[in-house]
Amino acid sequence: MLITQLKSKETIESLAKGKTFIVNCHGCKEVYFAEHEAEELQKELSETNDITQIVTTDYICHPDNLALQLKKHMDKIKDADTVIVFSCGVGIQTVAKYLDDKRVYSGCDTFPLPGFQGVTPLQVDCAQCGECYLNYTGGICPITSCSKSLVNGQCGGAKDGMCEVDKEMECGWERIYRKLEKLNKLDTLKYEPKVRNYWHPDAEQTDAE
Ligand code: SF4
Ligand code: SF4
Repeated sequence: MLITQLKSKETIESLAKGKTFIVNCHGCKEVYFAEHEAEELQKELSETNDITQIVTTDYICHPDNLALQLKKHMDKIKDADTVIVFSCGVGIQTVAKYLDDKRVYSGCDTFPLPGFQGVTPLQVDCAQCGECYLNYTGGICPITSCSKSLVNGQCGGAKDGMCEVDKEMECGWERIYRKLEKLNKLDTLKYEPKVRNYWHPDAEQTDAE
């Protein structure tokens, strides 16, 4: 099981720059999505920011389903400056991969819970690290795409674009660099990685039960 928790209102407001398209995934049985809180926050956001459309769907982690769900909204998406996704880390990465030339941001952090983890065939992975870095890394997860899970990569060991640990794997941090370059967002690499916060009240409550 996973839990998604909304990022702070200030953070989400700061991400909603220019025309903003929002995608919500009300998810699957394996992911708790804070649907009511997201709805309330997006209502408030619509009063102060230029939210062009809010689409709520499910299973955006499945690339074929995502393409189908977004197909009829592509004009609005092309016109948007920013896309904010409210889902688990897998859903956000799948949207960022599909909308490769868009600035796709995460409105949520993803935390682990014990239990069934789902069977959807996935192209990307989320380690449910509790503080999602996708907003700094062009929608590519540094925890799962880098063999050392570096949040301040790269390590310097890559050769010809391949990881020094797993020579079959493209270096995640080279992918992140290229993606940010394409989005004209290399400046985001100047962020300072913070001490990670894994704690979540709901997770603690479940452990105690
Ligand atoms: S940074 Fe990666 S592991 Fe952490 S929540 Fe985001 S997608 Fe998941
Ligand atoms: S070569 Fe790249 S993917 Fe491999 S450990 Fe170093 S930074 Fe991470």
